[in-house]
Amino acid sequence: MTTSSETVSDTTAETVPSDGGPKRISILGATGSIGTSTVAVLSEQPDSFTVEAVTAFGNAKNLARVAREVKARIAVIADPNGYAALADALEGTGIEAASGEQAILEAAARPVDVAVAGIVGAAGLQPTLAAIRAGSSIALANKECLICAGSVFLQEANRAGVTILPVDSEHNAIFQALGGHAVEDVEKVVLTASGGPFREWSKAAMAGARPDEALKHPNWSMGPKITIDSATLMNKGLELIEAHHLFEIDEGRLDVLVHPQSIVHGMVAFHDGTTIAALGAADMRIPIAHCLTWPDRGVSDSPRMDLAKVGKLTFAKPDTSRFPALTIARDALRAGGWATNVLNAANEVAVKAYLGGDIGFLEIARLAEDTVDAARSAGLDRSPSTIGDALALDREGRRIASAQVARFAAKTTLQ
Ligand code: NDP
Ligand code: MG
Repeated sequence: MTTSSETVSDTTAETVPSDGGPKRISILGATGSIGTSTVAVLSEQPDSFTVEAVTAFGNAKNLARVAREVKARIAVIADPNGYAALADALEGTGIEAASGEQAILEAAARPVDVAVAGIVGAAGLQPTLAAIRAGSSIALANKECLICAGSVFLQEANRAGVTILPVDSEHNAIFQALGGHAVEDVEKVVLTASGGPFREWSKAAMAGARPDEALKHPNWSMGPKITIDSATLMNKGLELIEAHHLFEIDEGRLDVLVHPQSIVHGMVAFHDGTTIAALGAADMRIPIAHCLTWPDRGVSDSPRMDLAKVGKLTFAKPDTSRFPALTIARDALRAGGWATNVLNAANEVAVKAYLGGDIGFLEIARLAEDTVDAARSAGLDRSPSTIGDALALDREGRRIASAQVARFAAKTTLQ
């Protein structure tokens, strides 16, 4: 939806305040890694933005600190147990405090110029939709929205006439490299992957990889779920699905290259033989700033890449035998929206189980694959045609995946 110049120019007005004053933004998931980077971007351009709402799950202290820093109008915590601490910490500031899932939806539904979708997981779907329905443009970090509900999610965005701006660094790079060209001009879109902490590990070593080892990403500092996804390369698989939806490009024209330096984030190869790449330091403040200031460009003192210091940039094909998540995600993309929905649900359950010590590292991808197979066998292979369908399928996927966790855990105990 952000691919053709027509779509982009049609919706440009949506992200530019009509009075020419500061842009109003909301930060959904303000206490996380994306939220923190967003706050850092705002602090560099204090006159360019005002903040309506900030939200979090349970981290009341941190949310109150962020709300004060950005002078938000309202701070909302999903977990009602956090309300007292939040209200206490905001007393006397004039910042409204609220709690509960419904309050998150109401805060997300306050119209702004851009809502940053930085909640992790499918839990971000409903708040992001609330922002869309309110007519706010979306700076989309929460890729799980698209993996869970791709087509129906985008239909909602189209209906509301809002722009979805990709924050995910690869997609932001591709968006910029496309430069408004139509997808028909494109031969191939390439997403790069750092390869994660286990890029050079043997499969046998990966089988015993501990969560603390998997959480050590070589280049990016991110929340725990996406860091584990980066170690399995499921993140790149999910990103293929994300790119398919964002740029309306078929799976066959989507490629992944392992690029350990994380300097080139994405490339677009056109039919005329030209390839355009977007490069930058591995710092999420850069794509976030791009989305918040788009269609203009702001000024930022985020780190610059030093190509002379980096010396060389290397690229390699991913090893899908050690990283099967990539193939599993491609298969799901080809199978359709039901499969990507179930894959996402299963992966969320599997990552949690791995971090909780219930399953091994290699079992994350296996569990995701088995869950998709089980869903197919159970006759769930019909793609959601409404958001309600997507949410119901997500719940069913989680139920099947949880049963798989119990099965895998029992196997591990028996060995
Ligand atoms: P984090 O885990 O660091 O932060 C998640 C945020 O969401 C926190 O504010 C958390 O609140 C909130 N949250 C978690 N669960 C819920 C819930 N059920 N309801 C409401 N709020 C909730 O994640 P990241 O910032 O790393 O990632 C956010 C999203 O951005 C993910 O979809 C990820 O894939 C994507 N992304 C992230 C990148 C990165 O660099 N981090 C890069 C590209 C994409 P609390 O702190 O209270 O728990
Ligand atoms: Mg990414």
